[in-house]
Amino acid sequence: MSESNADSERLDFIREIIAADNESGKYGKRVHTRFPPEPNGYLHIGHAKSICLNFGVAAENAGGKCNLRFDDTNPLTEDVEYVDSIQEDVRWLGFDWEDRCFYASDYFDRMYEYAVQLVKSGKAYVCDLNEDEIRKYRGTVTEPGKESPFRNRSVEENLALLEKMRAGELADGACVLRARIDMAAPNMKMRDPLIYRIRNAAHHRTGDRWKIYPMYDFAHCVSDSIEGITHSICTLEFENNRELYDWFLDALGVYHPQQIEFARLNMTHTLLSKRKLLQLVEEGHVSGWNDPRMPTISGIRRRGYTPESIRKFCERIGLAKRNSTVDVTLLENSIRDELNATAPRVMAVLAPLRVVIENYPEGQVEFLDAVNNPEDPSMGTRQVPFSRVVYIERDDFLEDPPKKFFRLAPGREVRLKHAYYITCTGVVKDDGGNITELRCKYDPESRGGGTPDGRKVKGTIHWVSEPHAARAEARLYDHLFADANPAEAKEGATLGELLNPKSLEVINSALVEPTLAEAAPGSRFQFMRHGYFCVDSVDSRPGRPVFNRTVSLKDTWAKEAKT
Ligand code: ATP
Ligand code: MG
Repeated sequence: MSESNADSERLDFIREIIAADNESGKYGKRVHTRFPPEPNGYLHIGHAKSICLNFGVAAENAGGKCNLRFDDTNPLTEDVEYVDSIQEDVRWLGFDWEDRCFYASDYFDRMYEYAVQLVKSGKAYVCDLNEDEIRKYRGTVTEPGKESPFRNRSVEENLALLEKMRAGELADGACVLRARIDMAAPNMKMRDPLIYRIRNAAHHRTGDRWKIYPMYDFAHCVSDSIEGITHSICTLEFENNRELYDWFLDALGVYHPQQIEFARLNMTHTLLSKRKLLQLVEEGHVSGWNDPRMPTISGIRRRGYTPESIRKFCERIGLAKRNSTVDVTLLENSIRDELNATAPRVMAVLAPLRVVIENYPEGQVEFLDAVNNPEDPSMGTRQVPFSRVVYIERDDFLEDPPKKFFRLAPGREVRLKHAYYITCTGVVKDDGGNITELRCKYDPESRGGGTPDGRKVKGTIHWVSEPHAARAEARLYDHLFADANPAEAKEGATLGELLNPKSLEVINSALVEPTLAEAAPGSRFQFMRHGYFCVDSVDSRPGRPVFNRTVSLKDTWAKEAKT
């Protein structure tokens, strides 16, 4: 069985546990989950999986609740910028924590009281070993650890030292508070783990009030307990931490939620680690956390994804029997499906070639009916201006075409979408022999497609009218990482070396239908024969639009699924 099967079973397994607990009345038929990000970076698509799961499971159960809780216990890496972005992203994904946004730092007083309680019951002690020594004393998976020489301090001495730590009388690293469990425990996490460490650092919420900060394993279970969480869902790496989670709550004799683990999301051509994503931002490999190539929610949003497409993706990966690394094409497919049904189809020429239609009257303009989306007649039609000079894609003309080339060539006829049949009658070149312009004639009878003599053409190409077209910038994106599995790429490779040098292609002088000049930031279109594009929310200006390619038209996933 692949890991993904385990994962998909685990999702059902979470629902089964909850159903069984509801049945037995273990938590009085309550379902209360939480999404607990650390505000030390922007959320990514892996977090979306956790958000959909936690908020989703709560919503599926009558009266179910899900808290948003900032796990803000490390003042050195956390920032309000991240708090704000996380709230924005969760809301954008379509989830509502109502009045239940909490901060682990709100519980610092309570946590300290709990620590004192552990000391008083002989279950915690202040240890003066430094980081290195603690590591050495811990032993290995095959050898038991060694007890700290400070392990048997009296309760009074421990209380006095803990108070000194709290009051800021000791320097960073002078000592730590540890749980007194078992230095020979088979589970290394149980070998007297840290509870508090000294950090003379200002916190983004509590300011200078605290000089000691709780460790994740202590803060997390206590926060869950305080909030009355029933099912504390976390990723598989925390499986070994569960024993400690249970130990702390039992030792304190407080309300006890159930920790349940599920497999984290990994995706091809993508790194899902806030630390690595921060590095990409800091080293300038991307324009910021919201660069449309980033797997962050803000990047994906700017790229043109919708909340629905991400929720659908999370649903699919949860149920499909797939490898533990999800193919990024599955994500692309989720937005392609949606935009195929909802995005208006418009014409944009990315590499323009000028075409003069010699038998079309000079100065004449007509407006042609264009269907907005053949998949959805309710989206109606629009009027597209046509005139004597149009632009087509350079690629849609070949001077010396192979037989199967059904686009434009000398003497050949094609259909201009929504307009007329044209035939190429001449090619204009510059001194260097480069094609600068085509001469064509049109058939006035072919308006709207079709001719009185029933003549058919095989090719249909898109175009824009010269006097009407708006200039635009188009940004074409490809995978940020060339390697399908950048996390497993060769040892010692820097992040920079793993990047795909062609992850962004900027086209400065694309030409688009006139209505697109003023398109609102965030609006989405299908550029016929090119892909789905979204007006960039950061750099786009009225009259000078910038379009991000969300995804190309080609559906590599559907192709792969067939084979
Ligand atoms: P990262 O490794 O990117 O820093 P993290 O686990 O440290 O992630 P947190 O802010 O602690 O980030 O994560 C908040 C929640 O999101 C946790 O419950 C965590 O389990 C979950 N989560 C994080 N990454 C993933 C992922 N790739 N797939 C599923 N859930 C994830
Ligand atoms: Mg974490």
